[in-house]
Amino acid sequence: MALKHNGSALALSAMLATVAGFGGAPLAAEPVLSPLVAMPVAAPNPVRGADDKIHLAYELTLINQSQLIVGIEAVDVVDAVTDQVIQHLDWKAVDAQLRLNSREEGNVMAPANSGYLFMDVTFAADAKLPPVIAHRFQLSVKSTKPDADGPKPPSSISFRGVPVSVGAPAVVITPPLKGPRWVVGGGCCATISYHRGATLSINGQVHVAERFAIDFVQLSDNGSLASGPAAALASYRYFGAEILSVADGVVAAIHDGDAEEVPGKLPEGKSIDNAGGNYVVVDIGEGHFAFYAHLQPGSLRVKQGDHVGQGQVLALLGNSGNTDTPHLHFHVMDGPSPLEANGLPYAFTAFEGEGVVREEAPLFTDGVVNIDASALAGPHKDQLPLNLEVVSFP
Ligand SMILES: [Zn+2]
Repeated sequence: MALKHNGSALALSAMLATVAGFGGAPLAAEPVLSPLVAMPVAAPNPVRGADDKIHLAYELTLINQSQLIVGIEAVDVVDAVTDQVIQHLDWKAVDAQLRLNSREEGNVMAPANSGYLFMDVTFAADAKLPPVIAHRFQLSVKSTKPDADGPKPPSSISFRGVPVSVGAPAVVITPPLKGPRWVVGGGCCATISYHRGATLSINGQVHVAERFAIDFVQLSDNGSLASGPAAALASYRYFGAEILSVADGVVAAIHDGDAEEVPGKLPEGKSIDNAGGNYVVVDIGEGHFAFYAHLQPGSLRVKQGDHVGQGQVLALLGNSGNTDTPHLHFHVMDGPSPLEANGLPYAFTAFEGEGVVREEAPLFTDGVVNIDASALAGPHKDQLPLNLEVVSFP
């Protein structure tokens, strides 16, 4: 089956973005000396979420390149052509979405501090997305030496810039699993999940390969993961579930031979090379690669170069690599390397929403999860399931 994309209007607007002069040129901004540098890690691709909103999830690398103390009081995301405000982040929202590399908290960056601002810009399902967005920053500024002689810095600085192109819409694929009550662990988009927060600098460049990654675990009939001792693989009913190819493609990479880990704690000594344990990467076309990780040793049914069909069994769900519970780690990326890649969004053709897990802690402590059964409930088509959603696949 050929790949299809959701939202043909989006595809059109993305295409037109490359046509010079469409809809007017992006507004020129007054040049303002800015103590803050903001750079997108990658241009975002829109995806329709299970909340029926279109999400643009991306990150801005922020560097305070000045000797001033910079408070980020507000960030407006604007249409780069019309200047219409799409989303407003006040200082509290900045505080929640900013992760400083110094590990300090808040919306204030000391001199030379850097970090990432995790953006989740949303649009109505029928919205026509702008081809380019830009950002208006409002900063408060303080000197580190307020009593020193000489010129004083202004107390506030505002600038507009940081254009970001809106890319092609998410690829639509079939789910990698079958059956009821799979929990979307570490999913998109509003929270800085452990997947999205994995802003890895590899060979000097930042990669967020896991931006849209999901860890799938399946709830048992009583709402827990294990139906027996937590350290026994056999306690997890879904251990050994068949992993299905989400599209037609060609196997680009595999790894096999890593032993199962004992559930209940993360193993020691895992590096970037063996974090995924046994895995399969399938080139599904148009610059998209699907990554399936933590597979059972010896369960891989494909080898590099094999052509696979949509729905074909690739391997069995396991607990190899950097994992403390049997699960399928799944993501889509723009190259064959699982981590040295840019994470791309995707939508599943069909799934049923069974609610959203209220508290994720029981998932990690062998407890029974509490589910808000009405949240995101019902049938979904061509959407990305969102963080902690419970979904059933056909
Ligand atoms: Zn994962």
